[in-house]
Amino acid sequence: MKMPYAEPYKIKMVESFKRTTKKEREKYINENYYNLFNLKSDMVFIDLLTDSGTGAMSDVQWGEMMTGDESYAGSRSYYKLKEAIKDILGFDYFLPTHQGRAAENVLFSTLVKKGDIIPGNSHFGTTKGHIEFRGAKAVDCTIDEGFDPKLIRPFKGNVDINKLENVLRENPIEKIPFVIVTITNNTGWGQPVSLENIKQVSALCKKYGVRLIIDGARFAENCYFIKLREEKYKEKTIREIVKELFSYVDGMTMSSKKDAIVNMGGFIAMRDPELFKRASVYNIMFEGFVTYGGMNGRDMAALARGLYEGTEFDYLESRIRQVEYLGKKLKEYGVPMLEPVGGHAVFLDAKTIFPDIPQKEYPAQLLGVELYIEGGVRGVEIGTVLADRDPETGKERYPKLELLRLAVPRRVYTDNHMNFAASAAANILERRDKIKRGLKIIEEPPIMRHFTTKFKKL
Ligand SMILES: *Cc1c(COP(=O)(O)O)cnc(C)c1O
Repeated sequence: MKMPYAEPYKIKMVESFKRTTKKEREKYINENYYNLFNLKSDMVFIDLLTDSGTGAMSDVQWGEMMTGDESYAGSRSYYKLKEAIKDILGFDYFLPTHQGRAAENVLFSTLVKKGDIIPGNSHFGTTKGHIEFRGAKAVDCTIDEGFDPKLIRPFKGNVDINKLENVLRENPIEKIPFVIVTITNNTGWGQPVSLENIKQVSALCKKYGVRLIIDGARFAENCYFIKLREEKYKEKTIREIVKELFSYVDGMTMSSKKDAIVNMGGFIAMRDPELFKRASVYNIMFEGFVTYGGMNGRDMAALARGLYEGTEFDYLESRIRQVEYLGKKLKEYGVPMLEPVGGHAVFLDAKTIFPDIPQKEYPAQLLGVELYIEGGVRGVEIGTVLADRDPETGKERYPKLELLRLAVPRRVYTDNHMNFAASAAANILERRDKIKRGLKIIEEPPIMRHFTTKFKKL
């Protein structure tokens, strides 16, 4: 028998949460205008809203919280983190920040000017935000296959080398401060990027004299996929793959709330001492002095440890295979979703689940509401509500897909919780003929409406 996977840790402490009844949940979601962001966490049974900052730290990480050094300058914990970043990622210089978008803010303040062009693979929301806020443009060079919801390919997050070369060739090179590659590709449904692809992008960047930056929020999960799917790397350890990958790039921004398994934190890491000097000015201005920049000493120490734990094969296997397990269960129940399942989340296909509900009635938001009512499971809409209105015409932008993302926090839930969530989705499928209408917006803010829009049921 092929042995199944199992978590390489046991549970030392538990956090209880209350189950609610369906009747209570109907009341809660109605009182909160059918927006899942408005719910108090106590109203939720299984929270799959995000895998960001929701992971469980280990006993050793909690130990680090007790021994962290809170010195303003020259903290021992800072040096511990500096050592871990050098050891795991290979970078000599780094700046701590309070989270990933703060790392973007500091690095982009240093490098991005109005009119610049930043090519990449489906830039993450905050990355794009920080680019556009500075009057620059994010150009998506993801391979076309990455946008096909059913196509089974090992590396759907890859950069299309031709698309990238066209951008580099057709624009004044001084207008392109760097190329940014996001691993795994979060906006592209958590699909990985191959090491071969990173090498090609790196060679191209060298040829044109442009920096290559990695948005590394899920770098370890990406390297797990490389080990499994890229023949050449199957005998290498995760840490060897991580080291090789980063050896091809100039720097990275990191949201430590993802693969470093801490609840808050981020950093920028780089090779170039000149860039470090320039970025330090903005770090001091926006985040804090260079040896803490937005983080507590204890948090830096826990983060240093998290980089080691997050790059262990056994941990990564149990983490990614749990997400895969959720996908497998859903598939068994016939729930339509995107394939292959990515590293951190499963994406349910609301258009296929509710074929008669038009996009103007927000089928993915409706699916999120129904899943909450059915099982107290909270996902997040990736559809028309998130796509927002066109800032010029004020008209809604209808995306190709209407998705409900179920993101799995790290080391938090058991496979039983995955069974539970999949069963709730299966029950919706069973009664979907009775769901005839979607939702209507009754109040929305001028921008970023995802979080605060109020809906009513039609
Ligand atoms: C989460 C995330 C960010 C932003 O990080 P925060 O810690 O949420 O500010 C940037 N890029 C990617 C790919 C992410 O997943």
